[in-house]
Amino acid sequence: KRRNDEYDLLVVGGGPGGYVAAIRAAQLGKRVACVEKGRTLGGTCLNVGCIPSKALLESSAKYHECTAALADHGITAEGVSFDLKKMMDRKETIIQTLASGIDFLFKKNRIQRFSGIAHLLDNRMVQITGESDVKVHAGAVLIATGSRAAAIPGVDFDGSRVVSSTEALAFSEVPRRLVVVGAGAIGLELGSVWLRLGAEVTVVESLDRILPAADKDISKQALRLFKKQGFKFVLGAGVEGVEPDGEGCRVTIAGRESLSADKVLLAAGRKPCIDGLGFTELGGRTDRWGFIEVDSCWQTSLPGVYAVGDVIGGAMLAHKASAEGLACVEKLFTGYGHVNYRALPSIVYTHPEVAFVGQTEESLTREGVPIKAGTCSFKANGRALALGDADGLIKVIAHRDTDRLLGVHMIGGQAGDLLAEAVAAMEFAASSEDLARVCHAHPTRSEALQEAARSIEQAAIHQ
Ligand code: FAD
Repeated sequence: KRRNDEYDLLVVGGGPGGYVAAIRAAQLGKRVACVEKGRTLGGTCLNVGCIPSKALLESSAKYHECTAALADHGITAEGVSFDLKKMMDRKETIIQTLASGIDFLFKKNRIQRFSGIAHLLDNRMVQITGESDVKVHAGAVLIATGSRAAAIPGVDFDGSRVVSSTEALAFSEVPRRLVVVGAGAIGLELGSVWLRLGAEVTVVESLDRILPAADKDISKQALRLFKKQGFKFVLGAGVEGVEPDGEGCRVTIAGRESLSADKVLLAAGRKPCIDGLGFTELGGRTDRWGFIEVDSCWQTSLPGVYAVGDVIGGAMLAHKASAEGLACVEKLFTGYGHVNYRALPSIVYTHPEVAFVGQTEESLTREGVPIKAGTCSFKANGRALALGDADGLIKVIAHRDTDRLLGVHMIGGQAGDLLAEAVAAMEFAASSEDLARVCHAHPTRSEALQEAARSIEQAAIHQ
């Protein structure tokens, strides 16, 4: 007979990795509990990540459109202003709506929620401390505790001048000068929000390029377009220190002139949340950066203890965490579960958006894979021109001999939505000819994807 405190699965962490896994396990008829230390479910993604950043990107884009972009359409908007508090309130409402949606799903699927901090006592017993103060036994434990912003050597967060994305999503006023450390997705997205609202934004990146995970052609275009928007960049230089300076601070950069700033946003990497979890104390293995090591079934070195999402490293993306959560419990309870890491989309929600799936030209060349590539500029796309949003391009890369799609890379308005077709094509092992032969509606931006694929065989019609 099962005890009341015994579950088939205890999920630690209610983010997109954990809550999705909990729901799937419950759907499979399992008795499931989930422990979350935060006030609301949804994790980083919902509370201080994907969703609030997109809410602010949208509000700031609307303001920017009124003040700058509408003029090209012959529209004059005068006396346009914004209410930052209202923008923030709107963002909070969206978070609350989605968080209560997850609460509802937990109730619907009879998932027991515990509020508190989880600490592993052994492979199958977890102590929960907080609002819930219980010891829980489980057939399997799934760790989905996510990640948090990492400081950089010589510079630590102080919560007011030197901040992480969490604070940068909730500034009470627009900083006059914002220095962003790190030219990845988080830094450029939040930099865009504050730039559009009037801040002077300088991005400092230790590499010699922005968006290092993107294809080089795309990141070059992105740099050009972001500079045109008013972003300033200091590339190939590391921040060495941040000192208080009057109301603001002074940012020292190796071999370059120092910068004055009101706020410094550190967006140069994230580290796994495993402190206090008890995982390493039980002998659980982590890699040299502290990410939990797992096997192909997402089982850690502790039998019966699994881990998914940011805490195991790799692409730090919500949909990657969810895909792993789903696959992990399916593998555990049905014997089948799989994530195709080769078809994992990445999107940067700047304007224009940067979106890609599969490998870049550089990584394929490095591996010696014979490739062929085709591109199409949005300047040749009727819909993009009609929208007044024709900056950017699409690049399709296929195997030179088999024609199998190996990577699709884009920069352009709504590129993130366009990417879905390329992801589906890669998932179904399509060739570039398959993409080229699909009939695309006119006039849509998606025609540029078809044209990029056609251009591989020099058969593009409009370029
Ligand atoms: P998390 O979402 O971090 O959830 C982990 C949960 O575990 C947290 O709620 C935490 O409170 C809880 N927890 C931790 N330790 C314990 C413990 N001991 N006991 C109990 N609970 C615990 N990804 C995208 O795909 N698209 C985007 O647009 C995007 N934008 C982002 C913007 C920002 C500003 C940031 C910071 C991230 C963004 N991400 C985005 C990344 C995305 O948020 C993460 O990849 C995702 O949240 C990881 O999910 P997870 O379930 O692994 O962990």
